[in-house]
Amino acid sequence: MPSLSPDFVTRVAIAETGLRARWRRFWEPPEQFLLDAGQAGELLIARIRVLVTSVLLVIPVANIFLAPAERAQHLTGLLITLAAFVLALLVYAMVARDRRQRWLPLATSFFDVTLISLANLSFAFVSDPHVVVNSKVTFDTYFIALGGTALRFDRRVALVTGLMAIVQFIAVIGWVALAFPLDRIPPAGAYGVFSWADQVSRVVLLAAATVLNVYIVRGIQKQRELSNADPLTGVFNRRFFDDYILSEIARAARFQGRMAVAMIDVDWFKQFNDRYGHAAGDRALKNVARAMQLAVRRSDLVARYGGEEFVVLLRETDAAQALERVEQIRRAIQEEPHEVGDAHPVNITVSAGVAAWPEDGNTVGDLMATADRRLFQAKDAGRNQVVGPEMPMAHAAL
Ligand code: GH3
Ligand code: MG
Ligand code: MG
Repeated sequence: MPSLSPDFVTRVAIAETGLRARWRRFWEPPEQFLLDAGQAGELLIARIRVLVTSVLLVIPVANIFLAPAERAQHLTGLLITLAAFVLALLVYAMVARDRRQRWLPLATSFFDVTLISLANLSFAFVSDPHVVVNSKVTFDTYFIALGGTALRFDRRVALVTGLMAIVQFIAVIGWVALAFPLDRIPPAGAYGVFSWADQVSRVVLLAAATVLNVYIVRGIQKQRELSNADPLTGVFNRRFFDDYILSEIARAARFQGRMAVAMIDVDWFKQFNDRYGHAAGDRALKNVARAMQLAVRRSDLVARYGGEEFVVLLRETDAAQALERVEQIRRAIQEEPHEVGDAHPVNITVSAGVAAWPEDGNTVGDLMATADRRLFQAKDAGRNQVVGPEMPMAHAAL
């Protein structure tokens, strides 16, 4: 009896279960389109950060005039707030450059949490250690920072940021509780006496918010992946591709980048369907999509363009590299046999046309038209081949 070909294929791939596999999957980076969406959230957070730190500057400035007796303390407060404001501006400048730095979401989340911890700690010096251990407003800002990580669309960032908040909170509270004789200093103003039980419940709150946040981000990631996927093959759908290639070309234009596209069409697929049935055809399409997915780099994007036609977007790739990569895809598909009921497994081939941006077309329409024309040439020349731009021959006969 022939072994069954894998029936269920997704981009996220490989139906593994068990805790270990789930843990490993948890740490996989999100798809690039999610990181790009996260970048928009990152920019929003950077703006809020600048706004909040600039508004906070008002407090020490006002205090200097309202309570001139504690001028030195207020000046220290002003310096700390000013430093936070300048740092927020610097982070904004970095985020606005939008260079797809992988470490940025985690770095800025770490920055926010650490800023809150340091601000809280500073009250021990400019005000009263009871403020540190019983602060309401400062403690609550941890939750704003945690909520902000959800806009990065990366569950790893949500988890690590929550853990950082917990560790820093425990460190700050622990140090203040040990370094100051809190039970001997009367608490100032509205701040109550120090209690370990209160601190434990605060840690529990931070942990609960972290878990909640991770699940929210995971849900958004899943939902977005699903809504952009082709239901049969699990690769991206055409609607997504049409949108995405527009933004990729805009990005390549902005950063003088390179990119290429390939249109890939299954050869003689009508015959395959007629001979082995539609169900076998569907299974074969899934296998082809999976073979493509496995043959490309993580940064390449595979989409089903319609019927038995696929497109691959190759980021940061010039024409020569693209040709090589698409040739690998063609070979990978050719080598994979497909189960077709009782008959012998059958091999399927594809033809492809490759076009590179910007030389083969500056707009999406022109680029895709070139790729399509070359696909047609590949079909015309006998199928099972890749046609790209003419390459200068490395060792042309003289
Ligand atoms: P060529 O080498 O010129 O591309 O020949 P072809 O037979 O592949 O091209 P044609 O466009 O004539 O036929 C495409 C076939 O693909 C027709 C259709 O039955 C089949 N097809 C398109 N979408 C699906 C699908 O989702 N499932 C199945 N099973 N078949 C599909
Ligand atoms: Mg075809
Ligand atoms: Mg076709």
